[in-house]
Amino acid sequence: MRTFSKSTKLDNVTYDIRGPVAKEARRMEMEGTKIIKLNTGNPGIFGFNADESIINDISKNLKNALPYGDSRGIVPARNAIMEDFKSRGITGITNEDIYIGNGVSELIMMTMQCLLNPGDEVLVPMPDYPLWSAAVYLYGGKVAYYRCVEENEWNPDIDDIRSKVSKKTKAIIVINPNNPTGAVYSKETLQEIVKIAKENELIVFSDEIYTRITYEGAKHIPIATLEPDILTITFDGLSKTWLACGFRAGWMVISGNKKVATEYLKGIDLLSNMRLCPNMPSQFGIQAALTNNESINPLLIPGGRLMEQRDIAVNMANAIPGLSAVKPKGALYCFPKMDIKRFNITSDEKFALDLLKEKHLLFTHGTGFNWPYPDHFRIVFLPDPDTMKEAMVRLGDFLATYKQQV
Ligand code: PLP
Repeated sequence: MRTFSKSTKLDNVTYDIRGPVAKEARRMEMEGTKIIKLNTGNPGIFGFNADESIINDISKNLKNALPYGDSRGIVPARNAIMEDFKSRGITGITNEDIYIGNGVSELIMMTMQCLLNPGDEVLVPMPDYPLWSAAVYLYGGKVAYYRCVEENEWNPDIDDIRSKVSKKTKAIIVINPNNPTGAVYSKETLQEIVKIAKENELIVFSDEIYTRITYEGAKHIPIATLEPDILTITFDGLSKTWLACGFRAGWMVISGNKKVATEYLKGIDLLSNMRLCPNMPSQFGIQAALTNNESINPLLIPGGRLMEQRDIAVNMANAIPGLSAVKPKGALYCFPKMDIKRFNITSDEKFALDLLKEKHLLFTHGTGFNWPYPDHFRIVFLPDPDTMKEAMVRLGDFLATYKQQV
């Protein structure tokens, strides 16, 4: 009998944040088990609400959202995005350089699909937000991972980046503020990255979806402001800062030296036209969001929920024997290290599965973020303080006796 398999294009493609361990959690939930699920950065399921102004503008415009719109996105939203980027120092852009997508996710796929030929290489941070690696592989490219260094607050290792550049390298991906580490890169680090991009004629793809989520005065610097001469594509969206993941609205701005990429940019236009347009209703909320672009700030300061939850997660992780966690300066995650000898861990996926089964607590293991060793996992610090504490107590209890059985 003829059988059907998935395309070989998917051979190296994984997305463990919603992978087999999360699937087991779903199965357990179906059987009635209550699980604390800290695998996705999804603020809406932890009691966070988007600002009413965004919701009102979307509701008011539902009828206007019936037709297909401009394939790049509606003009008022693109104008608001352009003004926002300009106000943060990104120069030489018009609203024609802006594309709205069904989340940043769609734009990641689109930009990689348009860029890559078989064998082309892309520099991707390790650990990464795994959609980037998945997109490179899916569209025939090869990932060249560059290390981020835990001992240096998870900043990228510049020498490692240099050593990974080859004749086939077309682009470098920067995720800043970072998922899963919570790092906010220093200006010096970004300047070095830009230098490498310039010397090697690379495109910079900068995923800045957490640009406004920083703590204790950490300053996020949009990389596109540093070197107007290299082609840079910067990503942001409604999902995190405006707590509206489900609306599926993200955007990108193309800045810098566009002359070197006339054909590539035509390709982006083509792919954008082919998807007809991004989902219409949520685009009507973008202007309100960007008018209210500091709405997340109260959550990030002392007494604010995100900062409090971050501190609970990091402090309690560091108090667990065999765990250590760098304090994140941004985003919604920390990425603690486990003493794998102490816990006899050879598979971090098995660690995550054992924890789920014994303590009904779900984390994503570090190799799910393309970290090469089984010694990390990611904590999402979105649950309310009491739930966050409860999760960390369960983790501590679990690790107090855990020895992985091979
Ligand atoms: N980029 C990063 C670094 C993320 O962490 C996420 C989601 O967690 C995305 C992109 C996807 O964003 P969107 O919801 O806009 O598709």
